[in-house]
Amino acid sequence: MDHFLYKNGVLHAEDVAIPDIAAAVGTPFYVYSTATLTRHYHLFTEALSPLPHLVCFAIKSLSNVAVLKTLGNLGAGMDVVSAGEYLRAKAAGVPGDRIVFSGVGKTRDEMRLALTGGIRQFNVESEPELRALSEVAVSLGVTAPITIRVNPDVDAKTHEKIATGKKENKFGIPISRASEVYAEAARLPGLQVIGIDVHIGSQLTELEPFEQAYLKVADLTRRLRSEGHTITRLDLGGGLGIPYARSNDAPPLPTDYGALIKRTVGDLGCEIEIEPGRLISGNAGILVSKVIYVKNGEGRDFLILDAAMNDLVRPSMYGAHHDIIPVAEPPVAAPTQEFDVVGPVCETGDTFAKGRDLPLVAEGDLVAFRSAGAYGAVMASEYNTRPLIPEVLVHGDHFAVIRERPTFDEILNRDTIPPWL
Ligand SMILES: *Cc1c(COP(=O)(O)O)cnc(C)c1O
Repeated sequence: MDHFLYKNGVLHAEDVAIPDIAAAVGTPFYVYSTATLTRHYHLFTEALSPLPHLVCFAIKSLSNVAVLKTLGNLGAGMDVVSAGEYLRAKAAGVPGDRIVFSGVGKTRDEMRLALTGGIRQFNVESEPELRALSEVAVSLGVTAPITIRVNPDVDAKTHEKIATGKKENKFGIPISRASEVYAEAARLPGLQVIGIDVHIGSQLTELEPFEQAYLKVADLTRRLRSEGHTITRLDLGGGLGIPYARSNDAPPLPTDYGALIKRTVGDLGCEIEIEPGRLISGNAGILVSKVIYVKNGEGRDFLILDAAMNDLVRPSMYGAHHDIIPVAEPPVAAPTQEFDVVGPVCETGDTFAKGRDLPLVAEGDLVAFRSAGAYGAVMASEYNTRPLIPEVLVHGDHFAVIRERPTFDEILNRDTIPPWL
């Protein structure tokens, strides 16, 4: 249930007809549903109750400040991976004590920003980072609360570019060296060890890798406690997958994920944090595009859209599947045709789908890419000098533009001419 449904033969976002938004902002554009964001956030809080917990939304999946404010107002924490994301969380009114800072390459400037502005914890990923954070905290006369991200060496069974929990990945410290690294953290000034962090990858479609990882975290909690460390918080990362192809995907539900957490680490008396991104934002957004041409090629037909790989890069970058549906509801048993669905960018990589069976559509028709809320707008670029497309947030029967499409003047004015030209 994602609140993007046909009503009276027209695709709606909640109670707003998609063609009304298209008429107001032009195509292509992203549109997000407040009700879906809210529902997904609550699925997690309900799944973790009654354990003490904080659901920290992974900002990198969808970082528009209006979306962050929607979730922040519900009580969500935020997981940030850069100074920019930290400032977005703050701009959305989320207090520092609900912001966790993740990432393998935090700079000293980023550490200073977060220590000055307020932070719940840093998830530290290496020994050099531990030393840098200690120095920065001491220089500011403050104490940095930390967890250390351990790499549990489990196979997340997901796309190789988004698997993060194998020992050959760049993330975290090997779990086998945890005792040594925690001992060093305890010795360093300016740091306060409060817990353990783990995140094994994204778009996981089975619970079993989580189970393996969390059992290792539970063992490690007991071991570190026996070595004298105070472990009161477990950050279990994000990564729960979503159904991208409605016809055949059935990833695990948040309730089952919550039950797994209770079973594996629920008896340790720790506060639980999780960092879901995609499961909250993915199905809360669609990308709406217009058919520019229907081109009949040799042996195949192309649907050429006004959206391209620079707007939604997942298909060309990860070979990802997105369901594509017409905005005008096709009649039952309407004829279909196989299309290669492509954008206007000058690269063969600019292909959204090959040989996709779609209801007949014509020039000027609107189509929607489902499940485009996560890793959509945030990964967009202006390749081919195509302006970043607008983002729209729907709430019941009204909508607002939450990021405008830049004008060509704004884009061109960012380039400056050196004095010798
Ligand atoms: C990307 C990331 C997440 C979110 O992953 P999803 O698959 O979107 O849930 C959470 N934590 C960390 C550290 C990440 O890098």
